[in-house]
Amino acid sequence: MLDFIMEDEFTLIMIKPDAVKRGHTGAILKRIEEEGFRIRGMKYVSLTKAQAEMFYIVHKERPFFGELTQFMASGFIVAAVLERTNAVAHWRKVIGATDPAEAEDGTIRKLFAASKGENAVHGSDSRENAKLETSFFFNALELV
Ligand code: UDP
Ligand code: MG
Repeated sequence: MLDFIMEDEFTLIMIKPDAVKRGHTGAILKRIEEEGFRIRGMKYVSLTKAQAEMFYIVHKERPFFGELTQFMASGFIVAAVLERTNAVAHWRKVIGATDPAEAEDGTIRKLFAASKGENAVHGSDSRENAKLETSFFFNALELV
């Protein structure tokens, strides 16, 4: 159904609860446009703890899993599917390292993240995960 996003042109991003709460949604959406991404689907939602656990299931054995999923269920988020040449890698470059202390100047995490856990944004790490993560949030009718 979502095979079109197997091309290396799509990625799934989230604006996490910390960034939404602090009022950075607009700035991050502006950056998305400035970086040449096209928004193919977008929703403003909140996750339950169980839904956050489902999304981050690959991290279930990690020590930070409980904290991460509680944080991700703590407020509204924006989830979006973005299209651009080399979308996965380009978005990862734009957001910077997981820990804002290690992120390069000008990256979204350097600008807006408070800590390694509450780090403003998510980005898929591969095209396979972009597809899986997109199917978590969107069905075919919700993508343009
Ligand atoms: N995370 C955390 N502590 C860590 C590593 C990760 O709280 O030591 C959180 C952080 O919010 C991160 C998410 O778990 O964004 C997923 O971790 P991953 O290693 O996939 O980082 P990302 O791909 O988001 O940069
Ligand atoms: Mg990751």
